Amino acid sequence: MNQYDAIIVGAGIFGLTIAERLVNCLNKKVLLIEKRPHIGGNCFSIIDPDTKIECHKYGAHIFHTSNEEVWKYVNKFSEFTNYQHRVYTTHKGEVYPLPINLGTINQFFHACYSPDEAKRLLQKQASIIQAQPNNLKDKGISLIGQPLFEAFFMNYTSKQWQTPAEQLPPQIITRLPVRYNYNNRYFSDTYEGLPISGYYIFFQKMLDSCKKNLTLKLNTDYFADDEAKKLTNEGVLTIFTGPIDQFFKYKYGHLKWRTVEFKKAVIQTNDFQGCSVMNYADLKQPYTRIIEFKHFHPERNNDSYNPNSKKTIIFKEFSKTWQPGDEPYYPVRTQKDVTTYHKYQKESAKHPNIIFGGRLGEYAYYDMDATFARALQTFQNTVTPHFKN
Ligand code: FAD
Ligand code: UDP
Repeated sequence: MNQYDAIIVGAGIFGLTIAERLVNCLNKKVLLIEKRPHIGGNCFSIIDPDTKIECHKYGAHIFHTSNEEVWKYVNKFSEFTNYQHRVYTTHKGEVYPLPINLGTINQFFHACYSPDEAKRLLQKQASIIQAQPNNLKDKGISLIGQPLFEAFFMNYTSKQWQTPAEQLPPQIITRLPVRYNYNNRYFSDTYEGLPISGYYIFFQKMLDSCKKNLTLKLNTDYFADDEAKKLTNEGVLTIFTGPIDQFFKYKYGHLKWRTVEFKKAVIQTNDFQGCSVMNYADLKQPYTRIIEFKHFHPERNNDSYNPNSKKTIIFKEFSKTWQPGDEPYYPVRTQKDVTTYHKYQKESAKHPNIIFGGRLGEYAYYDMDATFARALQTFQNTVTPHFKN
């Protein structure tokens, strides 16, 4: 007889959270399948063996949330540092603070506007957009006016998405606040920080907490695992956190994703750029941003984190359109994609024993906290009733 109550495909945040809940709340037996050689999905981090600097293998990850339930949940597995994220951007050879705040505005216009004056100016510049903005470009201009949009968002967005800003959803730009004071914290959430001992340890603790009833298969692609597919076909509950279009063999066409190439370099200096993230707003630099990992942990003072060390690690991020074989990182979500996604969603309703979840499974631009929240909600509203019924 089958020994598993559920199969989970993907050991990222969504898969791990459902696994942990299934084992610890419902005492179920779980098979967790992950095609990569590690758990944690795109939030995985690794200690660089040469410098001992913690690098986020798939791009910088800063945890932030205002969701009390999620904050309580993640704190079961790790303490968080009090890191506060601040991002700078380089435009025409000058460095400005982000997100757009009074400092950015006054530096850009060589002025000393008060909050009210700055607001009036930007409102006037934004007034060229009259209708309700329904794309990233119009939304951006309606928020900060054309000059600031063109300087800091237009070219960065075209490098990042390779899709005209007129075709991108407006929600992408509302991820960033606009402030009429000098507060340049990137996030406005109640809680923010990094797992004190690193992301890898955090996810390992989640996994350890459900070891008794969990079998983990790393380096295993679900589509190549006949045992797992057979179990799904026999009706075993399957939580699939890979790309939904791949699951249905792209029958309605490919969803558009964006992938990122990370070029790593070890630089022989103590501090390369003075901050963790420097964005590049112009087309002159083909990359969107440079991450310098040691700045994520100012509280660490060992090895290369030591002020006397002469080594640092940077990643340059080059964004490109997803091709088969690339990692799908960001859902582009043009109107056409959303229509295609709805077809896959409808198709998924025909398979009541399969739940699609997470950034890839739901084709959603979820941050980490939103992924935890969605997994906890899915566990409560869909997974638990599945077993009760
Ligand atoms: P994933 O992490 O993608 O996990 C899915 C897992 O499924 C992967 O491990 C994959 O290998 C596995 N899988 C897929 N297909 C198969 C298969 N066929 N068989 C077996 N396994 C399979 N969020 C923040 O809150 N803060 C940030 O600063 C932040 N920065 C980000 C930077 C980048 C570059 C990216 C791409 C994302 C960032 N995010 C950030 C978002 C964060 O990465 C996601 O919210 C989170 O990873 C989503 O978790 P998930 O479990 O849905 O997906
Ligand atoms: N963005 C931009 N310039 C910047 C930073 C962000 O144009 O310097 C736009 C860009 O379209 C980006 C979006 O704002 O995709 C959201 O930025 P965020 O930093 O949240 O993106 P992520 O960290 O998810 O890559």
